[in-house]
Formats: sequence, structure tokens, C-alpha cells
Amino acid sequence: MKIICIGRNYTAHIEELKNKKPSEPVVFLKPDTSILLKKQPFFIPDFSNDVHHEIELIVKINRIGKHIDPKFAHKYYDEVSVGIDFTARDVQSELRAKGLPWECSKAFDGATVLGKWVSKSKFDNILDVNFKLFKNDEVVQDGFTKLMLYSVDELISYVSKYFTLKIGDIIFTGTPAGVGPVAAGDQLKGFLEKEEMFYIKVK
Ligand code: MG
Repeated sequence: MKIICIGRNYTAHIEELKNKKPSEPVVFLKPDTSILLKKQPFFIPDFSNDVHHEIELIVKINRIGKHIDPKFAHKYYDEVSVGIDFTARDVQSELRAKGLPWECSKAFDGATVLGKWVSKSKFDNILDVNFKLFKNDEVVQDGFTKLMLYSVDELISYVSKYFTLKIGDIIFTGTPAGVGPVAAGDQLKGFLEKEEMFYIKVK
């Protein structure tokens, strides 16, 4: 399986990192080895002094697809959750300044947190739900999927032009504003609407 991630999909987050609004979705991949194992803490890697949390709505692909029309994209996922796209911001900034790929800042072991999967049928409209990240019981990111520049269905269509989507592939749909550093001892909780989807400790 592969993990396909979208960058710069919320205007307020683009502004907080002083990036430009993309004319097309920003896409990158993470390997399956980046998935944080269940019930394991997240260890801050020694190559970074500035690892940021990025909570994102995630969807799991349930059938093979290529060149998917946006109007049929909703048929390609049943399960949704929230996850964290951990980012070594200092490493990313250095790589970006050199015009290099940024995988070392985002695809390292443990950098992908997956919440528990739930059926999208639990929600009236997954394109209009709220999700939140709590750090030590304080809300640090508060996102609304309707504020995405590119909706989940548009993203599925777009990425399927380049990559065949397979069963079990996961798409991270971009983070809203409020990204920030994590420190040893932090506790992170992710919510999709009112339901807790993950809880992790940072070490
Ligand atoms: Mg991200």
C-alpha cells in the first residue's frame, strides 16, 4: 500500500507557512514504514529540533482505480479517519530552500499516525465535517473539511491521473492552520467530530 499526501490544501495553513496557493494539488508520498505502530509513542527523531504536528482527514481507498472522474470518486472510499503527517519542519525548510524533495522531513519512521477507521456513512457529508487536534488537552488545530481548496473527491481524481489507486491506499488530505512543534511529554488526541480517533504520547 502507499500513502499519498496532499500539501497546501487549506488557505489559512498556506498563509501561516507563507507559502503560495497552488494552482494544482501538491502531492507527495510516504512509505508504509512511516506508519506509527499501534499503541506506540512517537519518538522525536534525533535529526530534528522542530517536529510539527499536522492533523489531517484521511481516507482509505477500497477499489482499484485510474483516471477516476470526480463525480465517481466517492465510490472509491468507505472509511475515513484523522491522522498526523508529522513533519521535521527544520529539515523540510532546508530541503525546500535547496529545491530538493522533502521526503526525509516527512517520510521517516513513525511520521505517519493513523486514527481508527470509521465508515463515512456515520456522517451526513464527509466533505463538511469538523476535526481537531488536542495537545495536552488544549485545541491546537481545528479544521473543517469544507474549507479544503481541493475536496476529497477532486483529490482522488487528481492523484489517480498519476498513480493507480489500490485497495488499502491512504490519502492524507492536507492540514488546516495551527501546526506547531511537539515536545517530549506531549499527549496528542485527534477527533473527528465528537469521536476520539487516536491518542499518542510524544517521547
Ligand atoms: Mg501534511
